[in-house]
Amino acid sequence: MRTLINKCLLSLILLSGAMQQVVADTQPRVLVSIKPLQLIFSEIAGDAVQVDLLLNPGVSPHIYQLKPSDMAKLSKADALVWVGPGMETFLAKVVTSLKPKRSVQLQHELSAFLSDANGHSGRDHDHDHDHGAHHHHDGHHHNHDAHGDAHLWLSPELAPEIAKVAAQLFSELRPEQAQQFQQRLAEFNKSLRTADQSNRDLLQPVGEKGFLVTHDAYGRFVGHYELNQVGALTITPERSPGARHLTQLRTVLESSQAHCVLLEPQIQPRYLNSLTEGLNIRQEILDPLGVEIEPGPGSYAQFLTNLAEAIHRCLR
Ligand SMILES: [Zn+2]
Repeated sequence: MRTLINKCLLSLILLSGAMQQVVADTQPRVLVSIKPLQLIFSEIAGDAVQVDLLLNPGVSPHIYQLKPSDMAKLSKADALVWVGPGMETFLAKVVTSLKPKRSVQLQHELSAFLSDANGHSGRDHDHDHDHGAHHHHDGHHHNHDAHGDAHLWLSPELAPEIAKVAAQLFSELRPEQAQQFQQRLAEFNKSLRTADQSNRDLLQPVGEKGFLVTHDAYGRFVGHYELNQVGALTITPERSPGARHLTQLRTVLESSQAHCVLLEPQIQPRYLNSLTEGLNIRQEILDPLGVEIEPGPGSYAQFLTNLAEAIHRCLR
């Protein structure tokens, strides 16, 4: 008797394993470059499309180099979704040479919104600082190309457009599920609106207080919530700030224009101790890639809320 039950159990396990295999094989696979895109795309996908992540969120996309295992992921994907050559420079060449089955570039898909949003993307802030010199050495103008700041996923205003791109792509890959994608899109937007309102309420009282960020990524977030970012330690994480820029930052801190420094899990600025030495400057972690957030319903809204709460802790 016992053996019969065991046999039945065994065949059930084998059968369900086989079924999972079938499901996995028929499911389209969409590969997204960075974690916040995985949060958005997974929310729209539900279990109808498999959303895979290319980059470990502990690594900054600015300094990433592709590995052979990434090539394997790319070759298995039905579509690649990335921000664009202004962000994932390591993908720009791959997209031209490897030609994934399909490449969805958000800077291109959202171009109408990006040119409109320029005045609202924190560019005015950028020009207050000693940034000009960096741009031209850089070669690839990572943040500030024709479409402005490439950190699109940090904009509560662009997130619904990114989610719409997800729904469109998934509807083409699985037309029979189009209605479900639209429904999840509506749920996504609802959770976003709720989070956006509470973030606004949370941040409004600290809107005047100055702060520094680690790298110049948050212009759209800062603009949306009318925050007072007074500078960035670096423009792009791939290069350390020059002596002149460090002197300016030190002045900003000494004169109390900045109350706190927002650090990132992906970047450890070695010059930070000398910059803040002898000053009572609060430090807080601001994670632009959502390292600790699990994909699932409401995960992107949670990502934005975490950012708002980190800024609030820093400034309160
Ligand atoms: Zn960045």
